[in-house]
Amino acid sequence: MKYISTRGKAEALGFEDVLLTGLATDGGLYVPEVLPRFTKEEIASWRGLPYAELAFNVMYPFVEGAIPEDTFRKMVRETYGAFAHQAVAPLVQIDSNEWVMELFHGPTLAFKDFALQLLGKLFDYVLQKRNKRVVVLGATSGDTGSAAIEGCKHCKNLDIFILHPFQRVSDVQRKQMTTIVGENIHNIAIEGNFDDCQGMVKASFNDQSFLQGKTSLVAVNSINWARIMAQIVYYFHASLSLGGPDRSISFSVPTGNFGDIFAGYLARNMGLPINQLIVATNKNDILHRLISKNQYSVEKLEHTLSPSMDIMVSSNFERLLFDLYGRNGSALSAVMNSFQSGPTSIDAARWTEARKLFDSYAVNDKETCLTIAEVYEATEELLDPHTAIGVRAARECRRDKSIPMVTLATAHPVKFPEAVEKSGVGVSPQLPPHMSDLFEREERYTVMPNAVEAVKTFILENTQHD
Ligand SMILES: *Cc1c(COP(=O)(O)O)cnc(C)c1O
Repeated sequence: MKYISTRGKAEALGFEDVLLTGLATDGGLYVPEVLPRFTKEEIASWRGLPYAELAFNVMYPFVEGAIPEDTFRKMVRETYGAFAHQAVAPLVQIDSNEWVMELFHGPTLAFKDFALQLLGKLFDYVLQKRNKRVVVLGATSGDTGSAAIEGCKHCKNLDIFILHPFQRVSDVQRKQMTTIVGENIHNIAIEGNFDDCQGMVKASFNDQSFLQGKTSLVAVNSINWARIMAQIVYYFHASLSLGGPDRSISFSVPTGNFGDIFAGYLARNMGLPINQLIVATNKNDILHRLISKNQYSVEKLEHTLSPSMDIMVSSNFERLLFDLYGRNGSALSAVMNSFQSGPTSIDAARWTEARKLFDSYAVNDKETCLTIAEVYEATEELLDPHTAIGVRAARECRRDKSIPMVTLATAHPVKFPEAVEKSGVGVSPQLPPHMSDLFEREERYTVMPNAVEAVKTFILENTQHD
């Protein structure tokens, strides 16, 4: 399998190289040159498989040629075998023909574990094979950082540096990152906000000369293709659990960077019958504005009760635009350049196409809390605020009640106690047993000023070289 850049200029790469890069050299994102397609019969033959075996079948075409079958099968089994629920991604019914798929049974209690646990194993394999060391660098508003550190903690050939905004992540989120102690793990709390952290990461990737040629940077945010790949699997899992592929089902996906829902779009293009795909946003609604009004513009960041979706720009949307523009790299570059310089819109025919693919809805904090309460009162299922946004959007946008509707439950409510408390349900979410001592574990992190040079120096000084 070869991967090409959305901007059409960078060279095509194989899976291993795509895994170890961030953006393409032309500023684009990597996507598969040709998407694998499965027949209905093939998909139907996977009914009843354990999650890991299904995951192997769905993902293997993406890594074929780079990783031997047995090796990849072992990685996938180990990854999903470590989840705390036998079903890995259990479906819980919350109304007639309506479900949530719990994607929070991994080690850090958010869906990001599905991809980042596997990513750690992929890094280990490829880096050992190449006898190479790298630096993993990422910024987090909370969930990515802990999942990335947990996924990479056993990797021998890398150092990981995660920047989070000082005092702006929840206690559980911070503890999950800073209590994983290891020589190669570095948590940096930046005296700034998430955008400052992300800005520093971008600047470091753009000019890696500070590493003095001793190593190179690898990305763990969702611009990394391997993350998207791992997220395609659970769409197949949900469908097969609810009568697919003979019937089609709908999904509602709480969205920030457009990574998780893009995986659903790919599942559909790979042959899975999906009816509606609903983009559910909070007040940071760039995607909803685009899909509902063809308005593509950056607005001020709003801090909400669903902080993992507090973004101004959704980086993975570029991957969809690439398809909408007929996979024409120069046409896409023109759109992205126009977007860079101010509010814009996309070509009317392509916008109409986008509206056929997706529905969208934006949910404010008040509706988020009301939905947590509504679902708790009806079912005793306690939703986290991101999932509640998904459920609200599902209920607002649903067109056909005879089609099963599945909302992706992206995090465990214990990670976001503030929203649960504000919803007035009168219960507080508890840490699952395997984590009940989280608050007693020792923390280790370094507070640094909002200054990129200081961070670069810190990285260089704390990187292990050969
Ligand atoms: C990251 C995250 C999201 C958003 O996912 P994207 O892939 O960025 O759209 C939603 N909910 C939770 C809990 C998250 O951690």
